[in-house]
Amino acid sequence: MDIDIPSERVKGEEYRCKDCGERFRGVGKNPICPSCQSDNIAEA
Ligand SMILES: [Zn+2]
Repeated sequence: MDIDIPSERVKGEEYRCKDCGERFRGVGKNPICPSCQSDNIAEA
């Protein structure tokens, strides 16, 4: 499901999990994948 949210209202950076490919927004220096709890994360 794709929803367009005005980017000015969105906080946090977008990250991608290298282990499972999950993309998510996270805040902080060491985000953790919400899907598999991996910390093997890349900035998207
Ligand atoms: Zn993951």
